[in-house]
Amino acid sequence: MLIDVHAHIDVKEFDRDRDAILSDCDIIVVNAGVDLNTDLESVRLSRRYNNVIPAVGFHPEFIEKVDSEIENVLRLIDDVPIISEVGLDYFWIKDETLRRRQREVLAKFMSLAETQGKPLVIHSRGGLREIIDMVSSYKTRFAIHGYEGSVRDALKIVDLGGFLSFPPIILRDKGRLNVVSNLPEDSILTETDSPFMGPDRTRNVPCNVNLTLRKIAEVKRIEKEELEKKIESNFKRLLGPYSSLVGANLTKR
Ligand SMILES: [Zn+2]
Repeated sequence: MLIDVHAHIDVKEFDRDRDAILSDCDIIVVNAGVDLNTDLESVRLSRRYNNVIPAVGFHPEFIEKVDSEIENVLRLIDDVPIISEVGLDYFWIKDETLRRRQREVLAKFMSLAETQGKPLVIHSRGGLREIIDMVSSYKTRFAIHGYEGSVRDALKIVDLGGFLSFPPIILRDKGRLNVVSNLPEDSILTETDSPFMGPDRTRNVPCNVNLTLRKIAEVKRIEKEELEKKIESNFKRLLGPYSSLVGANLTKR
């Protein structure tokens, strides 16, 4: 079973062929909302497609509108097994006050993750050191999605029990490939961040996880099927008590 631990299938880029792209291969897709509207959409998608697991969060890029949405977003988390998309984005947000607000909001998500026993799939564009500091003080399972940091920080995350997730952009990214080659296989996850982060500049789709698997297997010198099984079991460890969703989710709910 393929695992796409982070995608945005609710977006308009998939309106014409959502059914087809979600049934094109044997895959579990975690759909991450980025604000209140897309969080609701994420929950709706999971009711419609039995291989979609809903994730609810608030993307740090939208921090300016957080005050009007956060209470409702936090409430929605009660109904889903994964908290995402959350994190820090210092690439688009340069203002220090807003960056501080991002950290406050992320801390809220982390504390909810701890009390509800739910994993976080975290966005980091800059701010990785802060994220590492923050996750150290909560008892949560987590993955850094679309990891773009150094080998050193990656190994710190591994030490903290975290996972690192890689999209198909890895096919054209030597830096990420180098990180992967230095990581233990039981810390690696696959994602697509569809429709972004594809193997080329066209629309990315969940089944492209196949390409990532092939590339990582090549770098790690193991069989693709073996890696696929490993990543499925890594994903179950990330889910913890919610791991039964991986099998159950394929039968109609
Ligand atoms: Zn994303």
